[in-house]
Amino acid sequence: MQELMSEGLEKEEFLDVVLSYNSNADIKKIGAAYDFAKTAHEGQKRESGRDFFMHVKECAYLIATMKLDTEAICAALLHDILEDTKTKPEVIEKKFGKEVLQLVQGVTKEISSKAMRNPRAENLRKMLLATAKDVRVIMIKLADRLHNMRTLKYLPVQSQKEIAKETLEIYVPIAYKLGMYRIKSELEDLCLKHLQPEIYQQLKQKIVKKKMKREKDVNRIIIAVRKLLGEEGIDSKVYGRAKNFYAIYKKMMKKSLKFEEIRDLSAVRIIVKTPEDCYKALNAIHSKWQPITNGFDDYIKNPKPNLYQSLHTEILFNKKTVEVQIRTHEMHHVAEEGIAAHWQYKETERDKKFDRKIGWLKQILDWRSAETAQDLVESFKIDIFKDEIYVVTPKGDPIPLPEKSTPVDFAYAVHTEIGDFCKAAKINGKIQSLDYELKSGDVVEIITAKNAKPSRQWLQFVKTSFAREKIRKAAGIKGEPTKKVKDITTTKNMASKEKLPLRLQKCCYIRQGDLLLGQKTKEAILVHSKYCDVAKRIPQNKKVKIGWIEQKHKKQLEIELKDETGIFADILSTLTSDDIKVNTINTKSAKNNLRMMLQISTNDEQLEKTMPKLKRVKNVISVKAT
Ligand code: MN
Repeated sequence: MQELMSEGLEKEEFLDVVLSYNSNADIKKIGAAYDFAKTAHEGQKRESGRDFFMHVKECAYLIATMKLDTEAICAALLHDILEDTKTKPEVIEKKFGKEVLQLVQGVTKEISSKAMRNPRAENLRKMLLATAKDVRVIMIKLADRLHNMRTLKYLPVQSQKEIAKETLEIYVPIAYKLGMYRIKSELEDLCLKHLQPEIYQQLKQKIVKKKMKREKDVNRIIIAVRKLLGEEGIDSKVYGRAKNFYAIYKKMMKKSLKFEEIRDLSAVRIIVKTPEDCYKALNAIHSKWQPITNGFDDYIKNPKPNLYQSLHTEILFNKKTVEVQIRTHEMHHVAEEGIAAHWQYKETERDKKFDRKIGWLKQILDWRSAETAQDLVESFKIDIFKDEIYVVTPKGDPIPLPEKSTPVDFAYAVHTEIGDFCKAAKINGKIQSLDYELKSGDVVEIITAKNAKPSRQWLQFVKTSFAREKIRKAAGIKGEPTKKVKDITTTKNMASKEKLPLRLQKCCYIRQGDLLLGQKTKEAILVHSKYCDVAKRIPQNKKVKIGWIEQKHKKQLEIELKDETGIFADILSTLTSDDIKVNTINTKSAKNNLRMMLQISTNDEQLEKTMPKLKRVKNVISVKAT
């Protein structure tokens, strides 16, 4: 990831780049804005030590690559001029026109931090309002934010977190809503890097480790797909596609998967000429490779609200799941650049598509017009995140988690050490149990203790794979989830009445010793962990009690007893009534008594209960277990 794409470009080269993306650009005007901004910011430096002008030049470069128009590129070059230099608005208007001035003002923060209770929220509201009038405002703001995020490491840690938090809460969803996936993905990864550096680094290491093998696999698929589509006479381009870190992270969180369990780390993208070709390609692929049930989405017939279009399918290739996306060149361009792509269409068509694209924004602003800026920002956040919750640390750092996460998930998401020494949790100031179900907006405080340590029981309620992995590591639990059903049994009645086979369900990672719950179906009893979400939804009349067959092992008992008639029967009945199996019996005379040696099968717990009973049997002198 380069920090500055435009670095080292001289003015002429910069203008050439602009022309390469937009041949209608007014190079004279853009050149003038370039010179004006360079002079105005003369001598100013960024935290990185670079000339301030580099920042606005990079923003303008990003805006140019989105193929936006002359006014937007000029405004990007001038976007910090009202805030950071003594230039007056009138000068901008006179030199570059009203449209450019309005764009610059839309991006400029105007509200002084002292005047408002919440200047950040007020500024955001102002920007959203300006965006509703002219969407280029948000595009320039996104370019500005992207470059600031790329250079975030030069700021103090506290500011890094604040800016990353705001980016994740506001700008990422906006980029998503506007369909600008290219910017959204990069922003997300940068947010993850600064908000959860530990998780980010772990993912990075794991991804790099598997990169070679993955690239090989992907190449194999690409070659096969190219060959197939060639044979079918479909003109296409086939690429491999890597998921961004944040997408992997989110998938792990949402589906409670480990990194190793994410199958579609990379996928294949097919770009064809027409929508008809999309379906032709899909048919060809489905007839050659087995599609996965439920893996298909038709976003061509049913575009996403942000107008994203594509066919998504999952197929089995060499026994591995591969995600395939099929779309036309135009759909691809829209998918990458979102609303910016629509900017290039003719006026009439643009209006229609634009209205649909920013309809959501206008709606939010209409509904919430009476609310305070803070309320607006809050409801904006809620509208945007659905199946993900968002809790905060006592310091206000946001931690994204999957729904139904617990304080233990939170603790591990913050830091491994907090998880490992987690003792109790305060939710919104109140002590709650560690399996408490967190909700968006909860303020979570973890109370740690030096002598606290992870409990095996936590595995039964944590939702995130990060937490699960860490707990297993700390508690020294080795091995994968159990794969055998032979250790599991239904209650005695069930087993004798109906001989239904047991089937382990993959959703809950059952491990030896977990509390279990069964669901009766026609063909089998499905085995779940008691805490699994699916298990919670089993109807009462389908629930089956199941448990583990206790691990019995062989033990030796040595009993000294007086030689009396009937004594064997007393001992044996004591053992069998406690469900202890006797394998062998040997007796020896010892002085005036008898010594009885028994080999039995039982577990420690049971033996502990039975020993005193044996000692109470008449004529028994002593009992020893070895
Ligand atoms: Mn800026």
